[in-house]
Amino acid sequence: TQVENVLEVNNIEVIYNHVILVLKGVSLNVPKGGITALLGGNGAGKTTTLKAISGLLASERGEVTKGSIKYRGLDIQDADPAETVKKGVVQVMEGRHCFEHLTIEENLMTGAYTRTDGNAAIAADLEMVYNYFPRLKERRKSQAGYTSGGEQQMCAVGRALMSRPETILLDEPSMGLAPQLVEQIFEIVKAINEQEGVTFLLAEQNTNVALRYAHYGYILESGRVVMDGPAADLRENKDVKEFYLGMS
Ligand code: ATP
Repeated sequence: TQVENVLEVNNIEVIYNHVILVLKGVSLNVPKGGITALLGGNGAGKTTTLKAISGLLASERGEVTKGSIKYRGLDIQDADPAETVKKGVVQVMEGRHCFEHLTIEENLMTGAYTRTDGNAAIAADLEMVYNYFPRLKERRKSQAGYTSGGEQQMCAVGRALMSRPETILLDEPSMGLAPQLVEQIFEIVKAINEQEGVTFLLAEQNTNVALRYAHYGYILESGRVVMDGPAADLRENKDVKEFYLGMS
């Protein structure tokens, strides 16, 4: 059976401040219900690609100047980010971005602000989030600013889940976390993918961990896709091993 691509990025070019060309024709497909990894080093354009999809580029003086981005066949490249959230796509930004002065639970509830399906459904989803992240339940009354980096990353993913997304764009979940915690976060991503059917597009510099959890990967270098393939193939690829997995 043919897998449906929920998201199709076709040959996009992104320019910041009208002059700085950062994406030079990036194309990628994100199949429904999969985990797709966007890999590459610092400055390769991963974050820019995610922001182009979620509509967050405009606030950084960036714009898509060529190509198209379709979600479920609808053009979203110049859409208002809030409209894109309503369509089911939510971005978890790099560096977590919790509201420091709100409690963990208040942070999670901010994720539900666009919902119109009532308090019972929202309360049920809060329980669902606490099920995936028992640690957040323990810390629910703590001010987010006083929680650990790992807890804030969990909070950011939990908040995204509270909008009942179909697709999560997850930027650099491993950043700044100890290896054991990175593994834990990816295990939870996998569980959410399998049990809730949430589609993931995740940007990662940690190629090793990303390719163990993703189904498919794209490697970006200087704003271009230089390689893509099933994660299992990329893990065995000679160049990937040499340049990205640190074992030639
Ligand atoms: P990182 O892991 O460091 O975030 P990345 O692969 O996500 O790397 P981007 O953040 O997309 O890369 O950055 C790609 C390029 O675009 C970099 O050269 C960066 O300096 C540039 N860039 C990013 N944001 C802006 C901006 N707001 N204005 C100008 N240039 C930018």
